[in-house]
Amino acid sequence: MHNYTDLIEKLQKDFSDLQVYENEPMSGHTTFKIGGPADIYVEPSISQVVPLIKLLQKNTVPFMVIGNGSNLLVSDDGIEGVVISLAKPAAAIEIEGTTIRAEAGAMLSSVANQAADAGLTGLEFASGIPGSIGGGVYMNAGAYGGELKDVLVSVKVLTDDYRIVEYKPDELDLSYRHSSLMENGGIVLEATIKLEQGDAKEIKARIEDIRNQRVSKQPLNYPSAGSTFKRPKGYFAGKLIDDAGLRGYTVGGAQVSEKHCGFVINKNNAKCSDVLKLMAEVDDIVFAQFGVHLTPEVRIVGRNIN
Ligand SMILES: Cc1cc2nc3c(=O)[nH]c(=O)nc-3n(C[C@H](O)[C@H](O)[C@H](O)COP(=O)(O)OP(=O)(O)OC[C@H]3O[C@@H](n4cnc5c(N)ncnc54)[C@H](O)[C@@H]3O)c2cc1C
Repeated sequence: MHNYTDLIEKLQKDFSDLQVYENEPMSGHTTFKIGGPADIYVEPSISQVVPLIKLLQKNTVPFMVIGNGSNLLVSDDGIEGVVISLAKPAAAIEIEGTTIRAEAGAMLSSVANQAADAGLTGLEFASGIPGSIGGGVYMNAGAYGGELKDVLVSVKVLTDDYRIVEYKPDELDLSYRHSSLMENGGIVLEATIKLEQGDAKEIKARIEDIRNQRVSKQPLNYPSAGSTFKRPKGYFAGKLIDDAGLRGYTVGGAQVSEKHCGFVINKNNAKCSDVLKLMAEVDDIVFAQFGVHLTPEVRIVGRNIN
């Protein structure tokens, strides 16, 4: 582990209002409530992101940008370097006509609700996805027949060589839970989406309907990271897992949800190692029975992973 004393001093000097947390448990910043400590954890404003990253790169400090931590499985050994969290309840969302510009840290639910208030339709699908718009673009998040790809018009990205580029969605290779950011790096700073004029009452009713469907089908009373595995072509992960007899299958504190087999839940103080073991066993058993491999949708990150 680096000695971060000088870096912390420099961060506190150069970024006067930035709180710098040392050895910050990531279990407090992930919806799975799992994960060892980040060496350093910060929640910068969007205007601090570029100078912060330049400083870290100059000092060869590893870093990782996260949003709301709703698709993350973090190692029990934590994360090396600096975790930069962008998700913020107060992140800016601006509506002009049918166009919405949102800072990366804006929550998808807030953007969807503001769109509804403004009588704009097209983003209802995202209302119950508990992530930020930055994480949503990175994952091309989607649900109930929609995905971000359908509504994005441009994405402002900080590239690995410090350029700020406005990408059109077709330049980001957005497909099922995939963007080119996964291979090429880059940090989403802002996203612009275009919706259509609609009836606010109908839009809100649709959001309410989606909420009710989620509450009735998903294990929202337990910590999780949503769907654990991607949908294999031609199948549903949850159905394969159920058909393999794995409903409620448990390793340590981790369990295949009894309510929705596509979700692994943190039933009882699960460790990352419990979830990883469970996922490997589920994949093995499903493959043995159906010849189909399950690949993770959750992003597995941190020390000693792989
Ligand atoms: C109960 C529940 C239900 C869910 N339902 C759905 C669903 O219906 N559909 C769906 O698609 N997902 C769903 N998810 C998963 C998750 O909410 C989405 O993947 C979401 O888009 C992740 O956003 P986040 O801000 O939490 O990202 P994080 O989990 O913080 O990060 C995910 C990845 O994005 C990267 N990232 C985050 N922000 C940025 C940024 N600004 N720039 C570059 N990279 C970034 C991170 O490095 C990481 O690799 C669900 C999760 C839960 C817990």
